[in-house]
Amino acid sequence: MAGLYLHVPFCRQACHYCDFHFSTTRSNVDDLVSAMVQEMEVRNDFLQGSSLSTIYFGGGTPSLLTAEQLEKLFAGIRRNFTIDETAEITLEANPDDITTESLSSWKTQGVNRLSIGIQSFREEDLKFMNRAHTSAQAVSAISLARHHDFHDLTIDLIYGTPTMNDEAWEENLRVLEELNLPHFSAYALTVEPRTALAKFVKNRIVPMPEEEQAASQFQRLMEWARSHGYEHYEISNFARNQRYSRHNTAYWKGITYLGIGPSAHSFDGNQRTWNVRSNPEYIRNVERSELTFEKELLSANERYNEYVMTALRTCWGISKLKVQQDFGDEALAYLETQLGAFSGGDWIKESSASISLTDTGKLFADHIASGLFR
Ligand code: SF4
Repeated sequence: MAGLYLHVPFCRQACHYCDFHFSTTRSNVDDLVSAMVQEMEVRNDFLQGSSLSTIYFGGGTPSLLTAEQLEKLFAGIRRNFTIDETAEITLEANPDDITTESLSSWKTQGVNRLSIGIQSFREEDLKFMNRAHTSAQAVSAISLARHHDFHDLTIDLIYGTPTMNDEAWEENLRVLEELNLPHFSAYALTVEPRTALAKFVKNRIVPMPEEEQAASQFQRLMEWARSHGYEHYEISNFARNQRYSRHNTAYWKGITYLGIGPSAHSFDGNQRTWNVRSNPEYIRNVERSELTFEKELLSANERYNEYVMTALRTCWGISKLKVQQDFGDEALAYLETQLGAFSGGDWIKESSASISLTDTGKLFADHIASGLFR
């Protein structure tokens, strides 16, 4: 059981808040796709023969690929890996790329889950974020996808933007309710260094997003999700009927995955690698058969910290048995001691088997995790 991530680093336009690796220069897409296929040929032993239970096309904007480019990537995957019959195959798509033709091509290739980058159903927010689509396109993209038999759908939303007061957030939740989706993700707007948004905030063109506003919208979201039958299974992810993202859940559980493409990360349980974050450099390196990635062997403490941080964000929480088995009795004793610092507040739920966060604790997840680090 393993995962494959393919990073498609091209976008139509730059969203102001985004710090993912992407380029709006699209003159070298064919070369990049060829390089990704070549990287698969060179690194297919990373998964040590495990078959793929999940494949995830992320980015960037994978929905910008032509049918031929996507077909080439799929041919590379099939040549180099075994795909489980029931594999979850997700493609991130922006609403403005969702057409009858693109949906048919994705279906033919084997994509069975779409993650649609919507962010908001309100024009004002979309303009603020510099998204390439309109609110009307977002809603019609979902209905077109369903019409083409894509029912495993998820969307992304962003709250806490300066354009979004609580009433505006309620408006988004009302549309979300009407859409009746099996899954969605929601993130607080953050100002990442080296983004257009960071410059705007620095030059006082837009105000700094308010933490209190984001916290109150997150709290409202948790109540809303619970009353609408969604399980809050990870800090930013909500699913009905256990239709979790299998790819991301495997990642949070420490399952091996290989990342292909510029900036993609890989993990084999002990070692983490990350590819160069430049399209031309990536293509050049692959063409010269040079390494495209750097690697880091994680120490036991680093693996423990990573496990604590990711597991604490999920509804399953930190498994005491796993800590004991993977890191020893001493690590478990340390964890129990550190938990003492949080015992006074309503932040932690502890049973004999696990440690997880309450709704209040979810507001301070990073702080709590760092208090448990070694
Ligand atoms: S479409 Fe996605 S990856 Fe591209 S700039 Fe916008 S948020 Fe970033």
